Amino acid sequence: MGNVLVIAHIQDGEVKKSTNCAVTFASTVASFVGGTYSVMALGDSLGGVAESLGKLGAEKVLLAEAEGLDQQLPERWAPVIEQVVKQGGFQVVVSPATSTGKDVLPRLAHRLDAGMASDVVAVENLDGKLTYTRPMYAGNVNGQVQLPADIEVVTIRQTEFDPCATADGASPVEKVEVPAPLEVLNQIVFKGFEKSVSERPDLAEAGVVVSGGRGLKSQENFKMLEQLADLLGGAVGATRAAVDAGFIHNDFQVGQTGKIVAPDLYFAVGLSGALQHVAGMKSAKTIVAVNKDEEAPIFQVADYGMVADLFKVVPSLIEEIRKVAK
Ligand SMILES: Cc1cc2nc3c(=O)[nH]c(=O)nc-3n(C[C@H](O)[C@H](O)[C@H](O)COP(=O)(O)OP(=O)(O)OC[C@H]3O[C@@H](n4cnc5c(N)ncnc54)[C@H](O)[C@@H]3O)c2cc1C
Repeated sequence: MGNVLVIAHIQDGEVKKSTNCAVTFASTVASFVGGTYSVMALGDSLGGVAESLGKLGAEKVLLAEAEGLDQQLPERWAPVIEQVVKQGGFQVVVSPATSTGKDVLPRLAHRLDAGMASDVVAVENLDGKLTYTRPMYAGNVNGQVQLPADIEVVTIRQTEFDPCATADGASPVEKVEVPAPLEVLNQIVFKGFEKSVSERPDLAEAGVVVSGGRGLKSQENFKMLEQLADLLGGAVGATRAAVDAGFIHNDFQVGQTGKIVAPDLYFAVGLSGALQHVAGMKSAKTIVAVNKDEEAPIFQVADYGMVADLFKVVPSLIEEIRKVAK
């Protein structure tokens, strides 16, 4: 029997949807190994999220509260989680593959001498062994991995697991002891956290994403995509080429080295559909591409494609949507 520990993703006092996706994964794994799952949160003050975490159907909710944990420093979080894993005898630790998850879990795996699989998109039970599917070679192939270790540490792509529904009842909440900060923290100075403030939904969780590429030609022209996104209640995304050209901040990059998105509707405007971009958006339910080059690879993954000049298509699309929205 083995138990699973989910590391919750909390931002601005709110449990993010990616936590529910990790719970879906954890509940599948728990059924494979004949165990249960618990959810752990770390922060300065977690009273506000205890109730939401208690509705995730977990055996227990574990809260690690101490000053400085809100900073999400891997050097500080990893020893706290390590202690909980060892004391609780957890066999699998999972976190969504957020920036924090990607930062903390490899360090945790090292401390636990555990096996690690990152960016997992599916899990199976093959001959009694947990078998993880994860993209490799920029998403060109999916590899299957088994981890020959007593403890398995996993980050999951939230876009590949449906968020769990809210459960009836409430899980018991336990406060966990937080070990004293490590010596190494004296060498690290937390300078601050600069949050990107936007009225639009979070790119990674948005139902509609309007992405632009180098074909937009300037930062000014990206405003067209912002208008389209606002009309559809969506988020704006971009290719790395658009980011590198300075058209938009790199917070908005979609792809292998950017955000992974899986909206219901993805507009790919003036972007070629390079492998590294497609790796971040191919799970979108409906993909609409606008490109003047009929040979552009984006048309291979698009559900609807327009071989046209974006500078004609996007303004008329905005105009037509405005008419309908009136
Ligand atoms: C290790 C590595 C990691 C990478 N990670 C990422 C990543 O995470 N995300 C990412 O996006 N890229 C990434 N890249 C870069 C990627 O390989 C491509 O270079 C990039 O995605 C291309 O961006 P683009 O499609 O905007 O530009 P281009 O390839 O230049 O395409 C521009 C497109 O716009 C079209 N166009 C031009 N004008 C118009 C017009 N008026 N109307 C309609 N269409 C028009 C053109 O036909 C063309 O297809 C990575 C590369 C490497 C090597």
